[in-house]
Amino acid sequence: MGRVVIIGAGPGVADLITVRGARLLAQADVVLYDALTDPALRELAPKAHWLDVGKRGFSDSTGQDTINALLVKHAQACDLVVRLKGGDPSIFGRLEEELEALAAAGIPCEVVPGVTAALAAAASTQRPLTRRGNGRSVSLATAMTRTGALQGSRSADTEVFYMAGKQLAALSRRLIEVGWTTDTPVSVVSRAGWPDQLHSEHSISTLPRASLLHAGRPTIVTVGAGARPLAGALAAPTLLDVRQPEARTLQP
Ligand code: SAH
Repeated sequence: MGRVVIIGAGPGVADLITVRGARLLAQADVVLYDALTDPALRELAPKAHWLDVGKRGFSDSTGQDTINALLVKHAQACDLVVRLKGGDPSIFGRLEEELEALAAAGIPCEVVPGVTAALAAAASTQRPLTRRGNGRSVSLATAMTRTGALQGSRSADTEVFYMAGKQLAALSRRLIEVGWTTDTPVSVVSRAGWPDQLHSEHSISTLPRASLLHAGRPTIVTVGAGARPLAGALAAPTLLDVRQPEARTLQP
């Protein structure tokens, strides 16, 4: 009987994985990975058997039960199984189901944290999620419920929404309904941390305009204190800025 290590791969390029994650990945016999993780990570474990169990949103291509069963099956057959997840496993990563399935099968398990998309977006746009004075709390929320309904919320000074990319117009309306003012700053980042990252900035009332730019890409929507640009700040240029200067920061 082997063990399973669930590793957060971070949001983008392979070097955003932690040193601990990379070291354990290099020892893996089998790696079960998600579609969002960078293919370059494979070079960290070239001898392992890599299995794509990627899911997108709620349209599972490999059902969660199948993934749980695969984890248990491979852990019973080899020494080290790595479950590689995008971002951090604890954030909208179905971690509880996998931990419970492994515990039920008596398989030892460890979790290695990763850089979640909200933090990658904050770093690459140089917008700190907390601000001295008026940004004392941060919420990581999903805009989508299990039934596909859209939720807005106002539970923190900075509210970061995952899985909202397809419904930015509806999100804008919901945010106003729950009490945000229409001029509240919103920062939208898709494929945060990747060389082709896109960033646009809005107010809540102009958020629907972000839909086209970020269509079909994993997107983070940051609302409130942490979305405000810093006075006089110039974000570091990315590859994309060179090719498409107008795309990096789209004004409302
Ligand atoms: N565990 C992941 C989140 C998985 S849920 C994490 O910690 O980041 C999937 C959602 O995460 C996507 O719909 C999108 O909202 C967000 N996401 C994941 N990677 C992203 C990226 N590189 N850039 C922007 N958003 C991303």
